[in-house]
Amino acid sequence: MALDCQWTSRGAESGSLPAAASAGDHRPDYVIPRDLDDLMQLYFFLLVVLSLSSASVPSMETPMEKAALATMCMLGSLILISHIAARACWKQIETQQIEPLLGAELFERQMNAFRWLGLGIVLLCLTGFGLATATVQSPMLKQSLCFQAVVLLMPGLTITLSTWSAEHYYRSLTGLVEQGLRQHLAGVWLRFRGTMGWLVVPILLLLAMSDLIAGLELHETHTAIITMLGVLIFVPFALPWLIRFLFKTAPVHESAEKWFESIISAAGIRRTSILCWRTDNRAFNAMIVGFIPSFRTLLISDRLMNELPRPQLAMVVLHEVAHLKRFHVPLRMLSIVPAWLLGGLITRMAEGHSWAIAAGSGVSIAMTLVILRLAATRTEFDADLQACNMAVRVSQFVKDVPSTYDEASRAMEEALRRITLESHSARKASWLHPSVSQRIAALKHRTNREESGICEPEPRSDTAQATATLSNVIHST
Ligand SMILES: [Zn+2]
Repeated sequence: MALDCQWTSRGAESGSLPAAASAGDHRPDYVIPRDLDDLMQLYFFLLVVLSLSSASVPSMETPMEKAALATMCMLGSLILISHIAARACWKQIETQQIEPLLGAELFERQMNAFRWLGLGIVLLCLTGFGLATATVQSPMLKQSLCFQAVVLLMPGLTITLSTWSAEHYYRSLTGLVEQGLRQHLAGVWLRFRGTMGWLVVPILLLLAMSDLIAGLELHETHTAIITMLGVLIFVPFALPWLIRFLFKTAPVHESAEKWFESIISAAGIRRTSILCWRTDNRAFNAMIVGFIPSFRTLLISDRLMNELPRPQLAMVVLHEVAHLKRFHVPLRMLSIVPAWLLGGLITRMAEGHSWAIAAGSGVSIAMTLVILRLAATRTEFDADLQACNMAVRVSQFVKDVPSTYDEASRAMEEALRRITLESHSARKASWLHPSVSQRIAALKHRTNREESGICEPEPRSDTAQATATLSNVIHST
């Protein structure tokens, strides 16, 4: 289970595409530009959900050959257009018709628009051209949910990969990356494995597992029980390993590893491996992957380690520990259950109508987006607050950890400012994160309350209180 964090920030300003190398702009290039920010996560989430749920939406029945041909023509033209856009933009810069920075920004916007419009094109291919129905009814694919999912995800993956490929092509034209087919494929693959990979690969593996179990031809109840057990084993044990494999990692220097270990042990989560998340010193990022002791890993990006002073780094680590200790991921998952129950209810109530499944799925997706936003924002505030509280205790055992709440909140504030220094947009509120100023204000709010003598037992903010109550519900059930 992965916990994403606000520490997601890129080197380049606003993640904008690098301008021409000849422009004398020495801002760092990046490998995974803004791929892990909230908007891109929302895009990946919608892409996967829409692609897979389209199979349950009634659509016209078309022979597989026709549906596939129409889809390929549509996707082929998109691949072509996105690469032409890259070349046209570079030509305009080269002939000095537009400023390099402006050109880079315009191209970035074009690719973003392509991706979001791509969601509509995915629906057009799957339901409009009838690819989804043809896939589900195909005698060859009928037996395998995994293969069906591969075909259903194909249009969305192709669109995303083609925009990444166009962006890489643009960078090769600017001279920022080496030209050549191998480098091109490696660049696109690197972006896939660090972003969509850890969403798509586990889903396909789970479906493959369910295909294998179904192939055993057991009694329906036994099949359901074994599948459930498989999922229960896969999520806590195999998924963290898979994510570690998909992300580029390296061992941490021995002395740093000891320091991180002593922080997380003092904070109460022992037996967690620590790895450096290699981003070529471009991204500020940290997360804890997995939740079972000995099977979980703390990933800290190289740039965080290289550029943040130890007290700030300690606060980033404690923020991640707080997410784990306060069950924020199961809490987020639990919070979306009502959305899907309501969706199911709507589908059942509208049974007999052709729009029943579409309406149910639509309501579920919309509610999921809203609820996840509320839950994620609240858990972020709570993790900040808990990290500051933990720092006070941890500092008694570990060097370079802020020893008072004030010092801890200041270190947290400085860390937040530092990682968003080059990216104004990263400071704003987004789908899963409150803005940096809201987070700092929430930390200061607690200090002010203490100074004015309004002290309560922790957690003190309304947000944290609400989260704690929900946490207790999990504990007691
Ligand atoms: Zn967080």
